[in-house]
Amino acid sequence: MTALLRQLPQVQSLLEHDQAVTLLKTFGHEAFVNEVRLQLQQRRDRIQSDERGELTSEFVSREAILSDAATNLRFSRTDNFRPVINATGIIIHTNLGRAKLAPAAIEAIQRTAGHYSNLEFDLESGKRGSRFDHVEDLICRLTGAEAAIVVNNCAAAVMASLSAFAFGKEVLASRGELVEIGGSFRMPDVIRQSGAQLVEVGSTNKTRIADYADGITENSGVLLKSHTSNFKMVGFTAAPSREELAELAAKSGLTFIEDLGSGVLIDLSRYGLPDEPVVADVVKSGADLVLFSGDKLLGGPQAGIIAGKKSHVDKLRKHPVVRAMRIDKLSLAALEATLRLYLPPNNPVESIPVLAALATPVSELNARAQKLSALLGDRVSANVTIVSSTAYAGGGSLPQQDLESYAVQIAPLAMSVEAFASELRGLERPIIGRISKDALLLDMRSVIDSEIEMIANGVCEALAK
Ligand SMILES: *Cc1c(COP(=O)(O)O)cnc(C)c1O
Repeated sequence: MTALLRQLPQVQSLLEHDQAVTLLKTFGHEAFVNEVRLQLQQRRDRIQSDERGELTSEFVSREAILSDAATNLRFSRTDNFRPVINATGIIIHTNLGRAKLAPAAIEAIQRTAGHYSNLEFDLESGKRGSRFDHVEDLICRLTGAEAAIVVNNCAAAVMASLSAFAFGKEVLASRGELVEIGGSFRMPDVIRQSGAQLVEVGSTNKTRIADYADGITENSGVLLKSHTSNFKMVGFTAAPSREELAELAAKSGLTFIEDLGSGVLIDLSRYGLPDEPVVADVVKSGADLVLFSGDKLLGGPQAGIIAGKKSHVDKLRKHPVVRAMRIDKLSLAALEATLRLYLPPNNPVESIPVLAALATPVSELNARAQKLSALLGDRVSANVTIVSSTAYAGGGSLPQQDLESYAVQIAPLAMSVEAFASELRGLERPIIGRISKDALLLDMRSVIDSEIEMIANGVCEALAK
């Protein structure tokens, strides 16, 4: 034991070791020396409690100590959760954090995070206020709804609405709309978890208003219409109009809820995109409650927006499920800032990254690809070509809509494409592309101009491994 203690190296001898050079450069003198001292202290303690003499001189070698120090320094330095470059061409990529926020929304988060705020305080009366008030008027203005409330995400909006209006009652939903969104959100399960009973009406491809009418009993509570989000039915199909559903619900004393999923606030057909239902039109058609996400096509933070009739929203305001799923203050700040970008004279398509990415003309994407390809030039051992590509909105929005795009296709010469993709993921700012045959595609629709240089440097670094 004392022999091992005596073999423990001095700090100075560790500092002079070859392996210390890069560590010193990466982490700085102070952090490195502190870590080395910590390692030495921990080893001293371990040796003193090693009554059975299990430790060997390997335990006190300079290499082992420096290797453990390096592991610890890297662990404390690198965040697990950090920014990546999304070159998949999927704009609202759920696994990569969905919508990137507009600068105004980021500033709003920053402002709110470091200060107290009037989150639930009415500055006029000096009395308690409601967090929902900060965005309600904005949502009403943008959707034409009488009232609105915001929860944690759209899944929570569905749960809360069904709990409030269908607990212990029946929910009528079309067999063609019992969608699985992904991440264990399946409509039949959500209905059950809300304490309601699902009554399936119609058939997979055709559901008529008479099917809903036939399914109504004295125990019915809600007519539910859901956006099919990630799939599309084509061919011999039918579904009743929103107006028909609203009329039937009103006549039968039921609540008509529409889960829109994505929820766009502006008409996107101008940008060559098919008409995804605009929230204001859905509200106008008579739904009691319309539910949509904050971080899909709206382009804001994670949130679930519930807009609709005042009587219905008022009931939700006091519901315990809404309290449990309420939106947090940072998301609320970002949501308000994002919604303001939809008001004139702002142009949301310019300032909201999701919409800007959808609306970027292909000529610009081509120019972006040219720029990246030129920056790579002959710096890399790979075949680099520009190819036309297909991008997607993602996030269960506009499921069938191919978006025309360009990609830089990189086929490495000295490593497999899988190894290349893995090196790109291992960069300090990971780059995520998509593999197609023996090449990696970096799609230009989900990146921005200011990322191109970083992508070029990252590709060079990855290919040099
Ligand atoms: C995406 C989606 C949801 C869930 O929204 P989150 O904001 O992810 O919770 C619910 N319903 C539909 C139809 C959706 O497309």
